[in-house]
Parts: sequence; structure tokens; C-alpha cells
Amino acid sequence: ATSRRILDILRIGQPGETVTVRGWVRTKRDQKEFSFVEINDGSSMAGLQAVVNADLPDGAETLKRANTGASVELSGTLVESPAKGQRIELKAESITVFGEADAETYPLQKKRHSFEFLRDIAHLRSRTNTLGAVFRVRNTCANAVHQFFQERGFLWVHTPLITASDCEGAGELFTVTGLDLEKPPRTKEGTVDFSQDFFGKRAYLTVSGQLEAEIMAMAFTDVYTFGPTFRAENSNTSRHLAEFWMIEPEMAFCDLNGNMDLAEAFLKYVFQAVLEQCPEDMEFFNKRIDKTVLETAQSIIENEFERITYTDAVKILEKTDKSFEFPVSWGIDLQSEHERYLAEEYFKKPLIVTDYPADIKAFYMRMNDDGKTVRAMDVLAPRIGEIIGGSQREEREDVLERRIEAVGLPKESLWWYLELRKYGTVEHAGFGLGFERLIQFMTGMQNIRDVIPFPRTPQNAEF
Ligand code: ATP
Ligand code: MG
Ligand code: MG
Ligand code: MG
Repeated sequence: ATSRRILDILRIGQPGETVTVRGWVRTKRDQKEFSFVEINDGSSMAGLQAVVNADLPDGAETLKRANTGASVELSGTLVESPAKGQRIELKAESITVFGEADAETYPLQKKRHSFEFLRDIAHLRSRTNTLGAVFRVRNTCANAVHQFFQERGFLWVHTPLITASDCEGAGELFTVTGLDLEKPPRTKEGTVDFSQDFFGKRAYLTVSGQLEAEIMAMAFTDVYTFGPTFRAENSNTSRHLAEFWMIEPEMAFCDLNGNMDLAEAFLKYVFQAVLEQCPEDMEFFNKRIDKTVLETAQSIIENEFERITYTDAVKILEKTDKSFEFPVSWGIDLQSEHERYLAEEYFKKPLIVTDYPADIKAFYMRMNDDGKTVRAMDVLAPRIGEIIGGSQREEREDVLERRIEAVGLPKESLWWYLELRKYGTVEHAGFGLGFERLIQFMTGMQNIRDVIPFPRTPQNAEF
């Protein structure tokens, strides 16, 4: 028989059905004449309990080898389970062990392991309940991201990972080098000529697909990217990775209000999808990781987000008795302590802060009439702080050109970006959402390293 996924059996399997399942042993409890073997294939939090009689052909021998961690196949008949908390179990008629796991050295012992410990065994940690739940939620959420945009007629565009533009101007670029470092090109001074990196030009790993997404929006109206992004974040925070996934919608004929509406609808949609499709995993997070996970999800879905200007946010922060490490005054970039105070303590729900000072934001944002602020928006969430950064874009060629000069960017390299403003320019807007921050927020996981299978941080690049 072809094998069935355990999730499917747990949900709809009926007593009397014969099934074959494959997976890894989570626990084995030996009784006198039989053993309880729980196996998990990653499809659900709960495994399938099998009762394996020692008097099966080779039963006793095989059972000895079916230790925790071993890969096995079990065939048999489903029966109603007498045990509490499970509807169905498997009465095994055969058991095969593919690969044994040495019980002495298997790193995933029954006790609870710290996340630090699990990060060191990234090749095995997906077999734990917590990481299993995280990666299932991550999958469901990724799927919901595409569904949300596809239902609304957005085109998924694939922007390059290798690019010459530093979109954010934050100096967090990784250089791509294709140089033969044994025989590199030299400058006149004799040092390696890194300006030759990419076959004679400079190139970097992308920090954002936004500029390219804008190009596509000027032809397809509504587009989005969803792919990896790189930033040389040489620090250790619980919310920054050097490689993370970003979702970046970009919409033509759209202003900042439309942008905020989309961001809010998006978050409501993906939370709803995950609650519906991963109920057991979300219950687990609520019970084991953070007691506010379900409440937060409900509140995202049900309540409108608060919307305030940067200027008003600063007023709130200046008035509070709470003391911040970084002092607040008009003009500062909000730090994560400020963002979290606003979302967690003041409004107690996500909020959208708009109209930041131009000086602390990127060159491409739409200048307001006051000449001091830009049509920026950050979505701030409890526990995380900034989860989305976005803006209406500057669509006026002359204003954009002056901005580029003012911030000291090389105009030549952005000729195409300026030219989009020459031919059929129009109001447009978009945002960037860090996928891992979203998963962190959804699951209550403390550290961003534990919501991506292979975190890239200053310590982690091994596999
Ligand atoms: P922060 O202030 O937290 O460093 P940012 O303002 O530098 O974020 P943006 O350039 O606005 O980030 O990028 C858009 C979104 O991408 C952010 O709102 C965040 O969700 C996510 N993001 C940014 N940097 C990282 C990172 N190093 N790791 C994971 N996600 C990130
Ligand atoms: Mg940053
Ligand atoms: Mg920021
Ligand atoms: Mg930002």
C-alpha cells in the first residue's frame, strides 16, 4: 500500500482501515508483550501511536532497533484508541526499521532543550515539537501570502538578488565578488580593485526589491515580490538576520491611504489563514511559548489598527513617564523601545505611524507639502516593534532628482528610476514586510533565529 501522512490519518482515518505510515520514532514504551511506538512524519504536532506486538515476524528483534529517532515504516489496521486524548491508533501488523538511531548519542532526548542548544543542531531541530510547529506555520503563512495577493490580481514578480542599487542607503550591503582572488585586478596603488567585482562592475546582494518592483508596477499596476533579501547586520539582536525573506507589494494609482489599507487587510488575512489551517500548532504556541498568541491573533483580525502621524507619536512618547534609553525628540528615528511602548503599552494593538521626517527616511519617499516630512508608514506590532516599512513614492521627476542630489546618491546609476517619472508617471506606493518578523509575531517566538530553518547571523553560516 502507498503510505499515508499522519495528519490525514489523525483527522479522517476510520477504524478498520488498513494503512501504511512512515516517519521517525518519537517515543517507544516497552510493555511485556508489546510496545507503544509513537511516530511522527512532520505533518502534524501529534504523532500516531502504534501498538506493536513482539510476536510479529521478527517483532522483538525489530522493536529493539526502533529507538527514538529511528526511521520506520508501520503497516496495520486503525482501531479506536482507548487512551485519553487520541481518537485513533494503529494496530501494527508489520514494522520495518530503515535507519536506527543510537539511543545513547541521539541529541534529542526526551527533556526540553533550550533554543540555543537546538540552534547548534539545526540539522535535527526540525524534529522537535516547537520547530516543527514553527515551520508548518511558516509554510501555511507563505501560502496565504500568495493567496492574498493572487486573489486581488497582483502579479508576483521576481526581482534580482544581484543588483547594483543600494535601495535603502543604509550601508548594509554585501558585495558580490566574482574576482579570481588568486589573480585579482589591481588598482594603480596595487590594492585589489574591487570595483571590478562583477565582471568589471560593482554588484551587491539586494537589500530590497522595491526599486525593481516599482518598474514592474508601472506596467502591471499591482505587483509583489516574495523572496530572500540580504543585509550585513553585524550585530546580535533577536529581530535581525543577515538573510531574511521579504514581501514587497507595489501599487500604481495608489496613495498612502491605499497602502495602509492593504497592509492592514494583509495582516488580517494571513492571521486568519494560520488560525484556520494550523489550529493545533497555534494552540501549542499559546500554551508553551507565549500566553497571548491566540488573543493577539484574534485582536488583529477583529480590530482596526490605530493610525497616527510621527509628530503625534513623538508627542505621546515625550509625555509618558516611562524612561527610555534613547531620548525622544522630533527628528529622531524611533528605536525599538519606542515602537514597542506605543504598540504594547499605549495602544495595546498594532499601529501605523505615518509622515516621518524626510531626513531619517530613504530618498524615494513622497515629500509632503511641508517640505519636512515624507509619506512614510511603519506598522508597529506588540512584542516586535517595526514589522512593516513602507511609503508612497516620489512620482515627480524634478522633486526626485533634487532629493537624489541632496542625499548624495550618484544620479547616473538611477537614470532608469528617474526615467520612469518621465514617461507616464503616476502616484504609487508599497511596503516591505519582513516574513520572519511576521512569523515571530504570530507564534510568540522570542528569537528570529528560531523561525527560519537556517538562520544567517554573525555566528551562523555553517549549513
Ligand atoms: P529595523 O529598523 O528593524 O532595522 P528597517 O527599518 O531597517 O528595520 P526596512 O528597510 O524598513 O527595515 O525593511 C522592511 C522590513 O523588513 C522591516 O519592517 C522588517 O520587517 C524587515 N527587516 C528589516 N531588516 C531585517 C533584518 N535584518 N532581518 C529580518 N527582517 C528585517
Ligand atoms: Mg535596519
Ligand atoms: Mg526601522
Ligand atoms: Mg523601516
